[in-house]
Amino acid sequence: MSIPVLIAAKRDSFMNIHEYQAKALLRSYGAPVSDGRVVLRAEEAKTAAGALDGPLWVVKAQIHAGGRGKGKFKEAGAGDAGGVRLAKSVEEAADEAKRMLGRTLVTKQTGAPGKQVNRIYIEDGSGIETEMYLALLVDRVTSRVSFVASTEGGMDIEEVAASTPEKILSFSVDPATGYQPFHGRRIAFNLGLTGAQIKQCVALMGTLYKMFIEKDMEMLEINPLIVTDKGDLKCLDAKMSFDSNAMYRHSDIAELRDTTEEDSKELEASKYDLNYIALDGEIGCMVNGAGLAMATMDIIKLYGAEPANFLDVGGGATKEKVTEAFKIITSDPQVKGILVNIFGGIMRCDVIAEGVIAAVKEVGLKVPLVVRLEGTNVEKGKEIISTSGLDVIAADDLKDGAEKIVKAVKG
Ligand code: GDP
Ligand code: MN
Repeated sequence: MSIPVLIAAKRDSFMNIHEYQAKALLRSYGAPVSDGRVVLRAEEAKTAAGALDGPLWVVKAQIHAGGRGKGKFKEAGAGDAGGVRLAKSVEEAADEAKRMLGRTLVTKQTGAPGKQVNRIYIEDGSGIETEMYLALLVDRVTSRVSFVASTEGGMDIEEVAASTPEKILSFSVDPATGYQPFHGRRIAFNLGLTGAQIKQCVALMGTLYKMFIEKDMEMLEINPLIVTDKGDLKCLDAKMSFDSNAMYRHSDIAELRDTTEEDSKELEASKYDLNYIALDGEIGCMVNGAGLAMATMDIIKLYGAEPANFLDVGGGATKEKVTEAFKIITSDPQVKGILVNIFGGIMRCDVIAEGVIAAVKEVGLKVPLVVRLEGTNVEKGKEIISTSGLDVIAADDLKDGAEKIVKAVKG
């Protein structure tokens, strides 16, 4: 499988949490964050804002995506303002919260469909002296945890990396020694911190590293990390993702999962124990075995198209499971063609054929379908498909299948 696809597949095995949840976790570790209240219903907004001191309030849409400040709401009546707003009174804060709740926020990270705002975080506003960028992540090249820091905070870090890479400091931590104060000093000097801020930085970086390791995080991004008008460091925004495979040992974190933020097709697939990951392409794939799934995606790319998903129905899939898998693929409006590529070992080709036919009967078939079957009961499987009356393009092997589906889609 190509590296970008593999990374995309990998990224989706992470669990994200909301900013307010990440900040509660930061607070529990003693990291500096503002006081705040979460609001789920418009009626609660005034009480929530009133519980904070003022004179400045920040009202923040809680979605699993960044770029909220510069985002725009889709609906009329939500005004032109984005998903992070400053307010000068309790009333103003409550109004902003009401304006955002239930509406759809579109940011650079949500993509065109946007995300519905179901939770609002109202925070005590901070006076800002400087905004900086800080992140911890798992560096797959060195197999270590890396720090990334930059003076260019509050901005899109990809943009900084592209235009002024010299403004980004990045280094990894040797797991044998773990975090050491010199790591923190290196970041502090690079960010131009002075006096007491250096000490605060050394302590904060140690805290972040500790929680990153203890909680099996994949990524922790503080953008911006600020120096307040009082000269102290503070985490003004927080984005955290965790390794899903480690959630069994972090029930406290697992509880924070908000499935309404997740891809509905992936959620549906997980119910049926299907290994499904949504991607950006136009060819839906149904394959058995992760290796064959990767090979299928690669060969689709080789013939000039992009896979719409990664889907491994597993070794011992039932007819019901295959039906569900097919339904999930066809429910994706991006899918312009489907390639079923099955090597029947434990999995029998006739079971796959029956599953596909059952699914097509239920949901219909509006796009070309290429089926390549090989292995156990292949003759029976092919017969079931050819006598079904379905408009299926049969393929002899992987190459043939990929060529045919790309041709059917691209014309
Ligand atoms: P994002 O747009 O989703 O990354 O949301 P952030 O939490 O990073 O907020 C966006 C921007 O709003 C920040 O970069 C700040 O400039 C501003 N902002 C957020 N909180 C405060 C605050 O407490 N006080 C002030 N003055 N500005 C804030
Ligand atoms: Mn931010």
